[in-house]
Amino acid sequence: MPFPFFADEPSARVGFAGNRLDRLSEKRGDADWFARQLAVPDARFILYAGDRPVVSLRDAGRLTATHDRVVADRLGADLAAPVLLGFDTGSDLATDLPGATPWFAAETRLPPEAIEAEEREGGPFKLIDLRSLAMQGVLPAHEMGAIAQARSLLGWHESHRFCSRCGQPSRPAAAGYRRDCPACGAQHFPRTDPVAIMMVTDGENCLLGRQARFAPGMYSCLAGFIEPGETIEAAVRRETWEEAGIEVGRVTYHASQPWPMVSTLMIGCLAEAVTTEIRRDEEELEDCRWFSRAETRAMLDRTHPDGLFAANPYAIAWHLVRAWAGA
Ligand SMILES: [Zn+2]
Repeated sequence: MPFPFFADEPSARVGFAGNRLDRLSEKRGDADWFARQLAVPDARFILYAGDRPVVSLRDAGRLTATHDRVVADRLGADLAAPVLLGFDTGSDLATDLPGATPWFAAETRLPPEAIEAEEREGGPFKLIDLRSLAMQGVLPAHEMGAIAQARSLLGWHESHRFCSRCGQPSRPAAAGYRRDCPACGAQHFPRTDPVAIMMVTDGENCLLGRQARFAPGMYSCLAGFIEPGETIEAAVRRETWEEAGIEVGRVTYHASQPWPMVSTLMIGCLAEAVTTEIRRDEEELEDCRWFSRAETRAMLDRTHPDGLFAANPYAIAWHLVRAWAGA
């Protein structure tokens, strides 16, 4: 039965999208089934050393972040508590269980320094941070989605080892998608933190800002965490008001992006301004201004006369800007 995957939508074009693993979430509660998947001889493993995935060369000089069991053992993968990411549905996008290949995520017990020392001596493995991988585009798109999924889940386990209700140690369950507390019986689930990111426009102009930590010349869409009790639209209006003093009217959804630093979901919106006078939050933003459509296109193409540019193509901000500028 084909696993549903649709490539022709804005969310499919951002970095860390393209995850085509069939998660089979309905089976996760069966511990015996999980153990059988872990024993599948050709299972693949995404391995993290700290916050960086292990990558290696595969055929035809391309890189991969999925490894076989021999590599997982060699790097000391912690297989006591791996996360089942899902089943590779292959290039034909069809799941053919039980023949499909399970993909797992695990931490390595080898410290990052040991892997780096091996690499310096010509070893086959590299550690590359997620931003660099996204920027360089050196991994297949479907692996980028899976390494994002792996990073978020492994990061959640690492920082949620104790029950938040009673403080006792909790333990992984449901193929890595839950932690159970043996002391009080509480069940804890992985979190996803929503961030609203918005392309605020006023007719032929759009509002972009820059934080002091951005690369010189880079401008991007305003963004902020959605707070408890807020709709996406309300968060877009509040953040735009707080950061730029601009009132926003109509808000429409455009696309989303998993952002694995560590568990964020970027929710990209188009937002229509109803005022134009900027009152910038000087702590949040180093600059914030209106750009014309022509200037914005030059920023996307990196032909702006002042060297200004609009985010990076792996980031949803770039796609929001392009959706409006029509470049
Ligand atoms: Zn507890």
